Amino acid sequence: MNESRTVTYVCPYCGRKFETEVYDSIITDTDPDLRDRCVSGDLFRISCPHCKRDYMIQYPLVYVDRKNRFILFVSSEPEVPEAVRKIAAGPAAAGYRMRRTPTLSEFSEKIQIFEDGVDDRLVELAKYDSLIEFIDNRKGSAEDVTGIEYQRTENGVMKINVRTEDRGMSFLIPVTMIEEELEQDKDRYRIDDENFPVINAEWIIDLFQPDPGSHQLN
Ligand SMILES: [Zn+2]
Repeated sequence: MNESRTVTYVCPYCGRKFETEVYDSIITDTDPDLRDRCVSGDLFRISCPHCKRDYMIQYPLVYVDRKNRFILFVSSEPEVPEAVRKIAAGPAAAGYRMRRTPTLSEFSEKIQIFEDGVDDRLVELAKYDSLIEFIDNRKGSAEDVTGIEYQRTENGVMKINVRTEDRGMSFLIPVTMIEEELEQDKDRYRIDDENFPVINAEWIIDLFQPDPGSHQLN
């Protein structure tokens, strides 16, 4: 069931109060329009009735897709509340993928990745590889990159877009290639769905950081 409630919100621009509807949880198959509003970000876009400004507000949301078997928890806070764990308890046992998405853009992208039936760890690996290739081919430096985005997966090929200030460059990566990369070092990439892991750029960068607790002995 989709659960929403009306909250009183104070406009950060004019400081006046107004009421707006926020969702606590969404089950996509009961309302496909809500799914579209999540992907576009419209669900989080509000308009102040006083000063007429439009802006985005992010609030905690549980997003359940029963057809593609995944649950996303939108929250910038690392703690996963008990109420969310309760919602997820049954599906966890049923093998759902569960993730926390700290930002709305990650939330939107994750919906598309899981709807495409793709393992999001592979996506982060593909993004990382695309960035390395972008730099190795002297297309630019890491500082030039303003975003790395998942586009789609078709016929076993993943399309990643590396964006800079003034252009975008697409990388086509065979899924089997990244699967092999993951398989070769699978303990490193192991995750525990029940803890709502965050699988994003920071996750993959952390995996490749040397352990600060270990010291090289010569
Ligand atoms: Zn206002």
